[in-house]
Amino acid sequence: MKDIIKGDPYPIVVIGAGAGGLVVAIGATKAGKKVLLIEKGPYGGDCTNFGCIPSKSLIASAHSAFAMKNGKALGIDYSPLIMHANEALSRVRAIVAEIRSHEGPEVLNKLGLETLTGIAKFEGTHTLRVNDEVINAKQIVIATGSSAFIPQIDGLDKTPFLTNETIFNLKEIPKSLAVIGGGPIGCELAQAFLRLGSKISLIHSHTELLNKEEPSVQNVIVNQFKLEGMSLYLGAAVKAVSHDQDQFQILLENGQKIISHSLLVCVGRKPNVSSLNLETAGVNYSEKGIPVDDYGRTNLSHIWAVGDVIGSPFFTHWAENQARSVLTSLLLPFPFKKKIDKNQSLPRVTFTDPEVSSIGLTEKEASQCYNIATYTVPFSQVDRAITTGRTEGFVKIVTKKWSSKILGCTIVGERAGEMLGEISLAMYAGIPLRKLSGLIHPYPTYNLAIRKAADLWLTETILSIFKKKKVE
Ligand SMILES: Cc1cc2nc3c(=O)[nH]c(=O)nc-3n(C[C@H](O)[C@H](O)[C@H](O)COP(=O)(O)OP(=O)(O)OC[C@H]3O[C@@H](n4cnc5c(N)ncnc54)[C@H](O)[C@@H]3O)c2cc1C
Repeated sequence: MKDIIKGDPYPIVVIGAGAGGLVVAIGATKAGKKVLLIEKGPYGGDCTNFGCIPSKSLIASAHSAFAMKNGKALGIDYSPLIMHANEALSRVRAIVAEIRSHEGPEVLNKLGLETLTGIAKFEGTHTLRVNDEVINAKQIVIATGSSAFIPQIDGLDKTPFLTNETIFNLKEIPKSLAVIGGGPIGCELAQAFLRLGSKISLIHSHTELLNKEEPSVQNVIVNQFKLEGMSLYLGAAVKAVSHDQDQFQILLENGQKIISHSLLVCVGRKPNVSSLNLETAGVNYSEKGIPVDDYGRTNLSHIWAVGDVIGSPFFTHWAENQARSVLTSLLLPFPFKKKIDKNQSLPRVTFTDPEVSSIGLTEKEASQCYNIATYTVPFSQVDRAITTGRTEGFVKIVTKKWSSKILGCTIVGERAGEMLGEISLAMYAGIPLRKLSGLIHPYPTYNLAIRKAADLWLTETILSIFKKKKVE
């Protein structure tokens, strides 16, 4: 093999052109540093190519299909409805291509960022090999993301199952699709394909879908999925999978059999640590990811790691937030180095319909640490939701008792993702719930549900003061 040893060491080399890596590489280049970005696959990483962008694009088409089918409820009858949903898949690929074109090597090179396509492997603490090139670097940022975790299921490896990396390549909406995994990715994709015409069987080992959320989320999502005709297998472990004559047979531990034309596996993520040869550099890691300190440094102070590769939670906004801190630390001397903000609560959104958004602690988690109060407003009491006929769901806010410091919030509703911003900001700025009662919310918006929750605090407090006075 021909070794090309690049001359002077690069001040900064970034491995992985996804959400985290791009923030560091572009930011450092713009700040005048010589940076090399190494990427093995399509630039843009999981979010652009196999994650957020294709899934949300498909969901947009699914939303449209659902709205047309259910137009009657709003006085619009589209029947007879003929759906050509395969074009939704072409649209997904066109959108991915468009967004990827903003993040490709040509655009990056124009900024002054050097790029190299290939798999990066450590050959020493400051040395990487990519194909036949050996690269020296003063600082290295690992941003290699995560991949679909494939569970040990009898027969699965002998079948042509789909993951998030392959499902968006389908040319046709499958007649039927079995989805193993009822977390955010499984729920989003199951509902999207259902609305685009697939018969869906959703299999989840836990008895609750989206089981990291408040238990009350479950009722709304399960009701909606059932209403739309999804077959749910909850608390169901898959025993074996086989494939013949273009059909999958999925055998559950309880003896039930599911027959399906396609199978999607989305039971979790695993950090991409194995291809890097981390042992050679002496970087500590486990299958859960690469541990980092408060600044994002690995056990070697010149090797940093950001994003999914450091482990759960796996979100683009979290990867980007870590990357911004690491970028600051790479560019500025010690007193200005920036810690990763692990104290800030991380907002989470699952883009089912209704959406599920949450931040901070659930009621159960909060009650284990604090004396708490909860304020819940169903959307059936919110005028905007009534006008659109989308009254399912609720806003639930968990606070410290009396002070009303917000500890957590869960929203299930049509605009839950957008609504969460108000609570995120309040938590970030230390604004207690009671103050939101005085904030003028435009009428009629979904966010008025948050003011109504704040009003509940006000009513409760005033009543308790009166009660106390009466006793005196
Ligand atoms: C279906 C799905 C939907 C999602 N939806 C959302 C959502 O709505 N909102 C949200 O916040 N998050 C979502 N996510 C999660 C989000 O995609 C990730 O959290 C995010 O992409 C992580 O960014 P990253 O930079 O850590 O990794 P990535 O964006 O995955 O980038 C890592 C890059 O490193 C490259 N790489 C790996 N190893 C090497 C190597 N040895 N050499 C060179 N290059 C290498 C990979 O090819 C990849 O391009 C979703 C994920 C999936 C799968």
